[in-house]
Amino acid sequence: MKAIIIGAGLGGLLSAAKLSESGYEVEVFERLPIIGGRFTNIPYKGFQLTTGALHMIPHGPSGPLARLLEDVGADVEIIRKKPTAVIRIPRKRGDTDYKFGHKDLLFEDFKMPFSLINRMKLAFYIITTRKNPPSEGSFYEWCKKHLDQDWTYRMSDSFFGWALSLTSRDVPVEEAFEIIENLYRYGGAGVPLGGCKAITDALADIVKANGGTIHTSTEVTGILTDNGNVKGVLADGQEYISDLVISDVGHSITTGLLNGVAGNGDIRKYIDEAKKLKPSAGVKICLSSDKPLIGHGGVLLTPYGKRVNGINEVTNIDPDLAPAGKHLTMSHQCVLPENLDRLDEEIELGLQDLEDIFAGKEYEVLLIQSYSNDWPVNRSSSGSDLTNITPVKNLFVVGDGAKGKGGIEVEGVALGVENTMEKIME
Ligand code: FAD
Repeated sequence: MKAIIIGAGLGGLLSAAKLSESGYEVEVFERLPIIGGRFTNIPYKGFQLTTGALHMIPHGPSGPLARLLEDVGADVEIIRKKPTAVIRIPRKRGDTDYKFGHKDLLFEDFKMPFSLINRMKLAFYIITTRKNPPSEGSFYEWCKKHLDQDWTYRMSDSFFGWALSLTSRDVPVEEAFEIIENLYRYGGAGVPLGGCKAITDALADIVKANGGTIHTSTEVTGILTDNGNVKGVLADGQEYISDLVISDVGHSITTGLLNGVAGNGDIRKYIDEAKKLKPSAGVKICLSSDKPLIGHGGVLLTPYGKRVNGINEVTNIDPDLAPAGKHLTMSHQCVLPENLDRLDEEIELGLQDLEDIFAGKEYEVLLIQSYSNDWPVNRSSSGSDLTNITPVKNLFVVGDGAKGKGGIEVEGVALGVENTMEKIME
């Protein structure tokens, strides 16, 4: 059996590694000269910056990605150190920004700023919603009804801004509760030694060791079908034939590659649904410093930032991600679709946040990167993902355009790949 994979991002490489381990002949096509997509390193002034991700695995060494990596035999180590998350709040109660100083709360203590009545309500909801998770509307709407307090919105926007590049208004309540459940189940974030590239390179090594091929600088320009079945792909003007095709480029681009396929009703419906999917956008600011700005290997959530949702300092776990004696710190901020044409202002607000958050500390801005459209934070915003299956037989979609439920970022990619593999091998 032969499988063709479109895209050598994390989703494509996980699929290729799993299929090649299972005895499939695998051929991967990547349009860029490098592999890894938004999950690899960019060496810059001795720092290991990235094409996308902040070198963080949302559920560290015990989540779905770590499970799948172990399953395919990838040689990577993901380190989780305590604290996994800390929340920065203003020093004085009533202040609404960091200008007059700050203090840090452990994530476990996030309930402290709630009113007494809301703390009691929260204790009740923590028990009842695990049995009966809410299912209608957005997480924001649920909070408005059940825990209406400024702190609720600040915390949820900071958390979902960091984790999904969305606000609580854009996260379906069902998905939000799945994510919270997964936090209980798998625990907090970790950093892979060597950063993102260590993972995608280890997967590529498995594919090659199993006799698979990875073509770089080779764009797939069409998906070939025959009578409702996938037949292969068109790349570099050549037809490549296979039994199955896995696309790692999201549903919208995949439907574009199906151009010209005589669509039955299901295919037309699929194309219409894919058109409605919205990617999530964001800005990452990379900082260099001589002394640690955060001082731990977890996430610093910043609910009182004007734009910045959270920050990490990965060199507290892997010092080799920066030159000797330096630290690498990265902030992330969600960008709303209506602000995409005002990116300069969004970035300026992010930079102002960093000045307030790290007041009195010295750092250099290394690089500012923005992500949207075809190189987004997520190809489909969490909770709106379509399934991994398409109406074309043996054509599947993986990656962050088709994440599994409750899966934050690469954990969602891993869950989607697991779902796809189950389907293929059933
Ligand atoms: P991609 O990485 O986009 O891979 C798709 C590949 O397909 C690309 O290499 C592309 O070049 C190729 N391609 C496209 N079209 C074609 C074609 N026609 N022919 C051949 N090849 C093609 N996740 C985390 O878990 N932790 C984080 O800390 C984190 N932080 C993030 C911060 C930012 C700023 C961003 C942008 C993302 C972050 N993410 C994070 C998300 C994570 O990076 C992505 O979810 C993940 O890398 C997506 O992998 P993928 O395989 O779905 O897609």
